[in-house]
Amino acid sequence: MKAITGTNLKLGILGGGQLGRMLIQEAASLDVHIHVLDPSADAPCAALATTFRQGDFRDYQTVLDFGADKDVLTIEIEDVNTQALKELQAKGVTVCPDPAHIETIKDKSLQKQFYADHGIATSSFKLIEDGRSLSEADLPCVLKLRTGGYDGRGVSVMRTKEDLDEAFEGGCVVEDLVDIEKELAVIIARNASGESAAFPVTELVFDPKANLVDYLFAPADVSPSAASAAKNLATKVADALNFTGILAVELFLTTSGEVLVNEVAPRTHNSGHHTIEANVASQFEQHLRAILDLPLGSTEVLRPAAMVNLVGAEGFKGPVVYEGLNTLLAMPGVYPHIYGKAETKPYRKMGHVTVLAEDLATLKTKVEEVKAAIRVVSV
Ligand code: ADP
Repeated sequence: MKAITGTNLKLGILGGGQLGRMLIQEAASLDVHIHVLDPSADAPCAALATTFRQGDFRDYQTVLDFGADKDVLTIEIEDVNTQALKELQAKGVTVCPDPAHIETIKDKSLQKQFYADHGIATSSFKLIEDGRSLSEADLPCVLKLRTGGYDGRGVSVMRTKEDLDEAFEGGCVVEDLVDIEKELAVIIARNASGESAAFPVTELVFDPKANLVDYLFAPADVSPSAASAAKNLATKVADALNFTGILAVELFLTTSGEVLVNEVAPRTHNSGHHTIEANVASQFEQHLRAILDLPLGSTEVLRPAAMVNLVGAEGFKGPVVYEGLNTLLAMPGVYPHIYGKAETKPYRKMGHVTVLAEDLATLKTKVEEVKAAIRVVSV
């Protein structure tokens, strides 16, 4: 591998959103130059990348052209042209994560089958050719489209006969409905030498009304045995894949105390944003270290943290205004991250806020203060 600094090494990212932007922010500290491909001219990375190319990362020729002069390529979204990435890999470009892993992960049926083949604890499931063939005998269950779903879209909890009318058309995974006590996530980094380092477990707190993640906090409020089961499972998945880069592992802690893998993402993840302020190395720094095959950093916790997503408020669409940002900036231990998206729309991820405190009770109070202080609206 070439020396990583300055113009020696060209690192390309497919996708120019907030994950890429935070990677660039970390990369600047090591003088790693980053080149970005994204379809949108005003993507969050556009103003920060060493070079920015406007183009579709799902298009074969565009990805092939973009990658031709790069030493290392990575992604910040799974929906990329893996065929082009495989060809670039064959030509000697280092592609992390491996395009074969992206393919396994972005098809929920291949992903579940991978867990079954490797003895990785996950909910029981079956694969069906068409969601509409689901019958009453399958209820209750969770129906998931094999491909194309994200952020809960393409996932449907089926309890009653009436729910069957809403079944998706096309190939699906049918999962047993898990009795969930808590939803957890483990962000793990693994480099090409096989060294891995997991961050302490994150806990996701849901808004029961909106059924959306309200906020996250870490370390999770779970027993030491549940925390180590979660870490062990994440390590098992990363090792079984022989993965390189950051792998985000979403898990369920069941009401009977079992820990199951729900799904993984082959990239940096929302549930690891707090690591920027709360841990010695952040998930973005770890990703760089992992894909450049450098020694991994420490995942040690400096302070307990929570993370609140700043999403566009309902009823506002247009040029964005962060109402109350000055109030946030006056709060101690509160760190706003604004992604630089020009336009807001309802529920669009526009930024996040990390909150640090000495204990969980104080964190929860501060999270409520943060949520009350800021609103993402439009002019
Ligand atoms: P996405 O890829 O859209 O994030 P997920 O597979 O994470 O979809 O599912 C979204 C949510 O649906 C999960 O966070 C969880 O609350 C619920 N869910 C998913 N699978 C199951 C399951 N087998 N049992 C119970 N709830 C589930």
